[in-house]
Amino acid sequence: MLNDVKEVLVSEENLEKKVTELADKITKDFAGKNLVVIGVLKGANVFVADLIRKINIPIALDFMAISSYGSSTESSGVVKILKDLDEDIEGRHVLVVEDIIDTGLTLSYLTENLKSRGAKSIDICTLLDKPDRRKAHIDVKYKGFDIPDEFVVGYGIDFNEKYRNLPFVGILKREAYE
Ligand code: 5GP
Ligand code: MG
Ligand code: MG
Repeated sequence: MLNDVKEVLVSEENLEKKVTELADKITKDFAGKNLVVIGVLKGANVFVADLIRKINIPIALDFMAISSYGSSTESSGVVKILKDLDEDIEGRHVLVVEDIIDTGLTLSYLTENLKSRGAKSIDICTLLDKPDRRKAHIDVKYKGFDIPDEFVVGYGIDFNEKYRNLPFVGILKREAYE
């Protein structure tokens, strides 16, 4: 598994530091508010699990599963909801937690969808951002790292369901996915 990684982009240590930093900001910003944290499955699973354990205010946790890439490495822009929320978000503050924003098409669909359910506010927290590839404008309030246009895996992020259990974010060798 490690042999398929060309380069470690974000180490375990740097992930932990950044997650703490983001959680501290979220704690301050949402103190006294009715916050629902929504993890976008499956990629954000590891990130959201680490993040919420460092958020120091009461929150509700929910998940949505959406399909974007399938097994390819390019976004189709077609988003399908595979698992919807259990929580009613009407009148509540929502924080959407994502693994990566690439074209932005997935999140643009998702935020419109959540708005239509009457959320009081919707903010985005993403671990990684590839700003060079953006097709839809997204306001990102909480961001971990800007990364170059490379295909990454690890810390919850997969290629064909593999590599999610790597403890760091790394660039996959081209041979591993072509
Ligand atoms: P977007 O709609 O912004 O183009 O797609 C975002 C989603 O595509 C991310 O949440 C992630 O699931 C997937 N994605 C984008 N870039 C990468 C990447 O480098 N590696 C992997 N494994 N998935 C990616
Ligand atoms: Mg994702
Ligand atoms: Mg995937």
